[in-house]
Amino acid sequence: MPSGVKDRPSVLVIGSLNMDLILQLPRMPLVGESLVGSHYSRSPGGKGANQAVGLARMGADVTFVGKVGDDADGKILIDNLVANSVSADFVSKAENAATGLAVILLDSDGRNSIAVFPAANNEMTVAELPAVFAWKQFDALVLQLEIPDAVIIDAYRFAKRAAVPVFLDAGPARPFPLEELWGIDVLSPNETETLALTGIKVKSLDQAKLAAAQLAKRSDAGAVVIKLGSLGAMSRTRDGCCQYFPAFKVHAVDPTAAGDAFTAALAVRFLKTGDIRQSVNYANLAGALATTRLGAQVSLPTDREIEDYQQRSQLTL
Ligand code: ADP
Repeated sequence: MPSGVKDRPSVLVIGSLNMDLILQLPRMPLVGESLVGSHYSRSPGGKGANQAVGLARMGADVTFVGKVGDDADGKILIDNLVANSVSADFVSKAENAATGLAVILLDSDGRNSIAVFPAANNEMTVAELPAVFAWKQFDALVLQLEIPDAVIIDAYRFAKRAAVPVFLDAGPARPFPLEELWGIDVLSPNETETLALTGIKVKSLDQAKLAAAQLAKRSDAGAVVIKLGSLGAMSRTRDGCCQYFPAFKVHAVDPTAAGDAFTAALAVRFLKTGDIRQSVNYANLAGALATTRLGAQVSLPTDREIEDYQQRSQLTL
């Protein structure tokens, strides 16, 4: 846990970058079916890059470590990080792999299906880590599960040796040896990621508590924070205390990147206050605001927008 309050925390993100191809459809296609879409767009994405941009919008000083292909999309993704005030000095180019790609199908009810081709993201190696950890002392490391396990685990060890707090957004949903991140500061999966990690289908708050207890047992996390979509979030601290945070009532149009907004807000607020309860509350609002806008990175709120919303709604977080 952070020992002091940080006004402008310096955060290292080690993760994925993808070019997102977004296609809006009346509904999801069936197997073998061909459907005509109503709208198409390309935009920078990848959980790592989205969270890096989200962290910068929350007022953090962000450094990104990742890999793209030596191609036009790779250049667009690097330029996009820089345009969003994220340092891309440690983003490298894979020699024999293309830039990562995600195909996002969005139906008229705002639900999505995503197919990912990791490409260069899978070419990341542990050899890229010593230079960045030697370069500077960060206030936090933020990780996701969209890069190779060996890199995630080694990055965690580097951070712990340097007493840097670590946050894991456990997406995308897949099994992962959480025991390798023993003592992690904050572990935050959504419902499908919780299912992949614990086998528990979170359909009630009691099941969320049960899953949080299992995740805590496997990781000894300082806090487990389960994102529950339109239900809000559930936190469990190391002392075994659970708290439920109901979702803020908003007009949700697109859930894309709500989890990324949540994680970014959670990390920065926690580094600024050291108070997990207040941080989950703040993240809950950041996630809610992200659902009110279409798209991934464009929907990530700034700390200013959250504060304005709080003032307008006379909320005390
Ligand atoms: P992910 O984007 O990883 O699937 P969730 O869908 O659980 O994550 O959303 C992340 C957070 O965004 C939730 O924990 C909640 O705080 C907020 N959120 C998501 N959907 C809604 C909604 N319909 N109304 C209000 N808040 C929401």
